[in-house]
Amino acid sequence: MYFRFPFLLLFIVAGLVGIIILKDHLDEGVSAANKAVPVKTPSEETSAVREDIPKTHFAALQSISSSDLRRHVVFLADDVLQGRDTGSRGARIAALYISSQFDKFGLRPVGENGSYYQTVYLNEKKISADSEFKIEIDGEMVPLKYKVDFLVVTPPNQSGMEVTRDLIFTAFGIQASEYDYDDFKNLDVKGKATIYVSGEPPSDDEKYFRGNKASQYSNGSAKRRTAKKNGADAAIGVVLPELFEQISWAGIQNFYTRSKISLRNDAATEGEDFAAIILHPDAGELLFAGTGRDFADIKKAAMDGTIQPFEMSKKIQMKLIVENNQIEDSNVAGFLEGSDAELKSEVIIFTAHYDHVGIGTPVKGDSIYNGAADNASGTSGLMELAEAFSLLPERPKRSMLFLAVTAEEKGLLGSKFYVKNPIFPLAKTVANFNLDMIGIGDTTGVVVYGIERSTLGDMITKAVQEVGLEIIPDELPEQRIFYRSDHFSFVKQGIPSIMPGFGIRREWFANFNKFYHQPSDDVNLFYFDFGYMKKSVQAIFLAGLWVANAEKSPTWTPGDEFEHAREAKQE
Ligand SMILES: [Zn+2]
Repeated sequence: MYFRFPFLLLFIVAGLVGIIILKDHLDEGVSAANKAVPVKTPSEETSAVREDIPKTHFAALQSISSSDLRRHVVFLADDVLQGRDTGSRGARIAALYISSQFDKFGLRPVGENGSYYQTVYLNEKKISADSEFKIEIDGEMVPLKYKVDFLVVTPPNQSGMEVTRDLIFTAFGIQASEYDYDDFKNLDVKGKATIYVSGEPPSDDEKYFRGNKASQYSNGSAKRRTAKKNGADAAIGVVLPELFEQISWAGIQNFYTRSKISLRNDAATEGEDFAAIILHPDAGELLFAGTGRDFADIKKAAMDGTIQPFEMSKKIQMKLIVENNQIEDSNVAGFLEGSDAELKSEVIIFTAHYDHVGIGTPVKGDSIYNGAADNASGTSGLMELAEAFSLLPERPKRSMLFLAVTAEEKGLLGSKFYVKNPIFPLAKTVANFNLDMIGIGDTTGVVVYGIERSTLGDMITKAVQEVGLEIIPDELPEQRIFYRSDHFSFVKQGIPSIMPGFGIRREWFANFNKFYHQPSDDVNLFYFDFGYMKKSVQAIFLAGLWVANAEKSPTWTPGDEFEHAREAKQE
């Protein structure tokens, strides 16, 4: 699953509740990393499926086994694959493994040159340490030090940027009409660089900026959007020292000096033509030097809620230099043609991302982020589905594409690349089932993201019951998981899609945070239950089969926000 960058920013720049969670991630590590925990043995090998399933499907269903699922996960999450980072040798080995499985199941290779590979062209960009940021003090441009004084939060597009801008101070940089609060009132920020400080108006009243909890308005990316909407073309966030009680500057540096990967020559994933910088509090002093305002007073005013915007007669100069590195990776595509002369032109796509985040900061001496749950588990499920469908004595009516995608962790890039370069027409692509993190959580049921949005919901509900599980409602809607994995690339094209996921409940979320994007997400993760994983994959098999053979292709629930997305794309 993709950790959204702006979401992270909420934690960092808000410096409130979320930081504590983040800090847990960085410092505490998890006991699950302990290799002594044995791999859970399959809890159940017999099929949980009821007897009224037609005999013809039985062998196919039975081929989805907990031992196979475990075997795939063990391979994909091995240290040898070094966390399957996009563009890495480990990811290449994973792709090779998946393609050899597809070959074994007799899927048709529909990638390039008779292979299973669809090359995904990517660009990696990194802010150069030679980037410059200068503040005017008494008529002179004084340079700040990259990393020490300033960090680039939203890197500009591939070519970098060089600008000189007038500064304007926008207090918290918030516009919130429901609270009758507007830092931009009577300010003309057009063509200027706005300055805002971290945080939001202090309040004890839950009905005003959620009291002492962080509201959405404290989110740094929300502040940048507000600045942009008002016509600014750069935004500078000043970190208030209080934030360091929660996270060190080194921790913030770590996040913002990482490289960023986008689809090559793609404005939509490259980033905006809008520079966003954050400053260390010490550099904040320089920002206000010579304005007749004292940064100490501004900090105090932010704390007591009396902070006010004001005009500034000084400039900044930025020269943001971007280093580009072109990389390639692959989606892996295997095809099973449908049996019906008419309906075989329609395609159901099953997806799972096989990449993870690679090697990173060591936690308890372990630096390999194996990504067993995220997403060796879903990839394993994808291969088991491919095998099961290939074993059916009679092919399903509609065609099926099994697509293991890359670079999901970089922003759903493999699936975005696919919808920009589809192997089969999107207009004939009738459904997507996405597998991302399965076999963990409450083993009595599964949460199905998108269940209420289309007729796929009825199919999966019936299938889940068929295998003896129940549907768990999404208890964490604020995580917006529906918008955070590869099915969403298809959703945006108007293709009905669901992600039948893990059995995550609110009370279990603390466990989730202990391994999510951590080295401890390895095969020894004691939350894995391969018997449960088998049942959830069998449910997806049944639902997929029913969709493939149904008279009509799936449709959106009337009124859903994506109901008309397909027509909108075709116009
Ligand atoms: Zn992930």
